[in-house]
Amino acid sequence: MISSKTSFIALIGNPVSHSLSPIMQNAALQYLGLDLIYIAIPCKDEDLELVLNSLKKINCKGLNITIPHKEKVFNLCSEISPIANKLKAINTLKINSENEWSGTNTDVEGFIYPLKTLNLTKKESIVLGSGGAARSVIQGLINLNLSKISVISRNKSSVDELIKNFENQIELQGLLNNDIETQNLIENADLIVNTTPVGMKTPKHEMNVLPYGESFWKSLNSKTIVYDLIYNPAPTHLLKFSANKGCITIDGLQMLVAQGLKSLSFWTNGLEVPFHIMNDAIKNYL
Ligand code: NAP
Repeated sequence: MISSKTSFIALIGNPVSHSLSPIMQNAALQYLGLDLIYIAIPCKDEDLELVLNSLKKINCKGLNITIPHKEKVFNLCSEISPIANKLKAINTLKINSENEWSGTNTDVEGFIYPLKTLNLTKKESIVLGSGGAARSVIQGLINLNLSKISVISRNKSSVDELIKNFENQIELQGLLNNDIETQNLIENADLIVNTTPVGMKTPKHEMNVLPYGESFWKSLNSKTIVYDLIYNPAPTHLLKFSANKGCITIDGLQMLVAQGLKSLSFWTNGLEVPFHIMNDAIKNYL
């Protein structure tokens, strides 16, 4: 029951109306019996500083930060975790003992979650796309001790910058999607991760398409695990296509839930909720 003592956690972004975080986080807060609720607050760029400073002064216990503010909140935090600094993105904030914002990033742990039971040590991987999520994915693959990562992008400048960011930590190369070498890489890859939004259900995007087009995928075979970060639709067209080729497939829902579990643990100083509580809440909702 919401009472006069109830405090809250919020998602800040623009837009936020499509987000599944309130569904899974409220299910988790209810499971823990905490007097807290989770709400989504749309916030324009020009209002971000005012909104974050104001939330510090009322009963807000923590925040999730989403597009387009994941980088802009750096200036508004007095404490930033090493992983958020490395990824240049913050997705979770809480109030520290000095009543200031402390920021971290839970996307790497979220990404790794469904891969933990698979042995990927010394395996070869491909990452499609070179935006914000690709950074977390590369860090996750480094943590899992893969031997080689090839990042395939349509954007030369962002792929070059991404590669520079992880130099000397793993064998890493960047290629454009029309490079003929991509076919060999796909044929031999143990894991392919899609971090482009291609296949996502939005008014702007066509859902029944594959990243970089059909011909890009002609050498895909059943030994490859295909992981799509997109969670709506689940499965995406890419995952259906890959399953038809005999591949193991992973959708983005597990990552979404696992990063949410880690955020909740950050806000509550270590409380844990079973994965299925948040996962079932989303599945029942969709
Ligand atoms: P982002 O920073 O905008 O990066 C998107 C990347 O995809 C960029 O490299 C972009 O290239 C490329 N791209 C965009 N449209 C493309 C197209 N039509 N064809 C080929 N490449 C294209 O976005 P992000 O934050 O990394 O998120 C990417 C996706 O991951 C989204 O679908 C998001 O929902 C999903 N995601 C899921 C989770 C989860 O928990 N499951 C977490 C994070 C992100 P350009 O630079 O050339 O535009």
